[in-house]
Amino acid sequence: MPPATQPKPRAKPTAGPKQWRVAESLITLRKQINTISPNRSKISDGTIGDPAHASRNSDHNPWVMNAGVGVVTALDITHDPAHGIDARKLAQALLDSRDPRIKYVISNGQIASGATGKSPWKWRAYEGKNPHRHHMHLSVTSDVGSFDDDIPWELEVFESAIPPILEESRPTEPDMPVLAMGTKGHAVATLQGLLNARGYEVEVDSDFGPKTKRAVMAFQKDAGAVVDGIVGPHTWSLLRAP
Ligand SMILES: [Zn+2]
Repeated sequence: MPPATQPKPRAKPTAGPKQWRVAESLITLRKQINTISPNRSKISDGTIGDPAHASRNSDHNPWVMNAGVGVVTALDITHDPAHGIDARKLAQALLDSRDPRIKYVISNGQIASGATGKSPWKWRAYEGKNPHRHHMHLSVTSDVGSFDDDIPWELEVFESAIPPILEESRPTEPDMPVLAMGTKGHAVATLQGLLNARGYEVEVDSDFGPKTKRAVMAFQKDAGAVVDGIVGPHTWSLLRAP
């Protein structure tokens, strides 16, 4: 079995009597994501397993039975940061929500379990064949009261980190992702270095915490920008201005 390396649309189910369905909680999540970003790419989206998934143990196979119908309890959402859907940030937001429906989340070569799994809510290395760099994967628990619970997912923090004018075409700073509280990584270290260089002292620890947010807000205030503590293209360009 060749490992899947390229993102590709999942096989469409064949017509005929419906032998499977997608868990209601996942349909709700997909609707929320589509509302947040109507123009997002769906190239790596998926629910029902493609042949690659069918040959291995996967929640994309409708192995959970409910009233004689197989239920798919996994959903893939495509990584499309240009349209506001950063799959890793979405995965992190889901973990941060501590939603009891979560069985596990996979993103960027890592997996994190929900409340009832191994070391709950903490990222650990994912050993599966597909490192999930083109999408994030969410599995919900196999308990019907849980997977069919269609209350909205807590995505306010994720959503508020997306600049409202992202959908419009405008030049953006290349390779500079939108940063907000909770973001970690190299870009955060770059931000912290730029803040320090401008006299807004923060520790360079690659972790966008409350102190970094305060420093960003102080910089934005002094620069006459919108004070929202979110580092979008405008704040990046102000920080990088000579
Ligand atoms: Zn998946």
